[in-house]
Amino acid sequence: MFRFTTIKDYHTALQAGEVSCIQAVDYYLDQIARQSHLNSFLEVFAEEAKMQARALDNARASSIPMGKMHGVVVGIKDVLCYQGHKVTAASKILENYTAIYSATAISKLIEAGAIIIGRQNCDEFAMGSSNENSAYGPVKNGLDTTRVPGGSSGGSAVAVQSNMCMISLGSDTGGSVRQPADFCGVIGLKPSYGRISRYGLIAYASSFDQIGIFSKSISDASLTLEVIAGSDDFDSTVSEKPVPSYSTELKNASPKKVAYFKETLSHPGLDIEIKKQTTQYLEQLKNKGYTVEGIDFPLLQFLVPTYYVLTTAEASSNLSRFDGIKFGHRTSQPISDLTELYKLSRTEGFGAEVQRRILLGTFVLSAGYFDAYFTKAQQVRQKLVDLTKDLFSNYDVLVSPTVPTTAFKLGEHNHTPTEMFLADIFTVYANLVGIPAVSLPLFKHTNGMPFGLQVMSDHFNETALLQFSESLMN
Ligand code: GLN
Repeated sequence: MFRFTTIKDYHTALQAGEVSCIQAVDYYLDQIARQSHLNSFLEVFAEEAKMQARALDNARASSIPMGKMHGVVVGIKDVLCYQGHKVTAASKILENYTAIYSATAISKLIEAGAIIIGRQNCDEFAMGSSNENSAYGPVKNGLDTTRVPGGSSGGSAVAVQSNMCMISLGSDTGGSVRQPADFCGVIGLKPSYGRISRYGLIAYASSFDQIGIFSKSISDASLTLEVIAGSDDFDSTVSEKPVPSYSTELKNASPKKVAYFKETLSHPGLDIEIKKQTTQYLEQLKNKGYTVEGIDFPLLQFLVPTYYVLTTAEASSNLSRFDGIKFGHRTSQPISDLTELYKLSRTEGFGAEVQRRILLGTFVLSAGYFDAYFTKAQQVRQKLVDLTKDLFSNYDVLVSPTVPTTAFKLGEHNHTPTEMFLADIFTVYANLVGIPAVSLPLFKHTNGMPFGLQVMSDHFNETALLQFSESLMN
């Protein structure tokens, strides 16, 4: 039977003729079919994936050199455009929408030989922390189907966790790659803002959004990142900085200066066991020769409010294009004027959480409240940026728990949105300041669920982040 460990091992086995791409695709199609109850995939591109696999097997047989992602079976979150394929953002409003171009990250993967196996369930427009906001039903955690997989990229995390693909691409605006990675026991990497082109990623909050990677090894995350990162004429916010060869730089020594915010480990919402295991782990790191220092971070309590003011403001603007005319579902009810057409189309098309955020965003941007909310939040964001500069002039990496709890039960946090927002308390910082961050599946709780350590590094210092992560994972 086909078994996957790392892309490197898979490539060695392909070259030795021990496996083929079609065997890999058949294996994953079978896994997806067997685990359809998890609701991880919204659509599987079975025939197309098989065709791609056969073409790659033939290319290898004729000694055509292998691309870096040759035969790598990838699933994509349903917010990434793939030309000629449906993309819905897990929303009814885009139910019948077909992408007319491919996201740059997807084009780069395909050019490097990847096989796209299907599109994955998520929270509607990437808004949520439990994957319960999808118009196509919740995703279930493969380790315990009474629990959520996290969100918003829940389908993508579960697909890697439960062996339905080798790699998934998700998106991370406030933790949507790292938080589900933590809940599912896999690696979730969010690179620096501007490292990967956002062209073809359906926008939630444009100054926060970044494509992220789910994998089972740091080497696979590094290789995928070096393939999809880099400048792009179609996204003016993506950096021109050259892309290092992350996967080969992994063999160099890990940086050693580690900081943590004291307030993260003393937060009242932090699960007692997560606190204990994380604290013990940091002690062990000291014994292994790392410097680990706690620093004061009085701004922790402002992170979630700042994040929700700014992201909802950006979302209210970004989502205005889904009006039944430019994009999206149009009501079939009789209407008397244009305003009614907009109202009905958007009311029928958007789910409750998306509507709530559009309303909140419109409110914080309204003339009377702009300064009290939006301007204030921008000021906090600037303070955080300044503080981050100082921090990384003294330390290589910053660590914290990824999420304050392990995966909760389906329905457990459905009553008050603010309860759900606590799940984001440790992850939103990296998006507010644009630094890279990763969740590493290092721990297991006595309730049987995994949890992670979040590691962050300075802007565009993914190399340090990945080297440090590799040293912890091995
Ligand atoms: N849970 C956060 C939110 O609901 C993060 C979402 C994301 O990163 N896309 O906004």
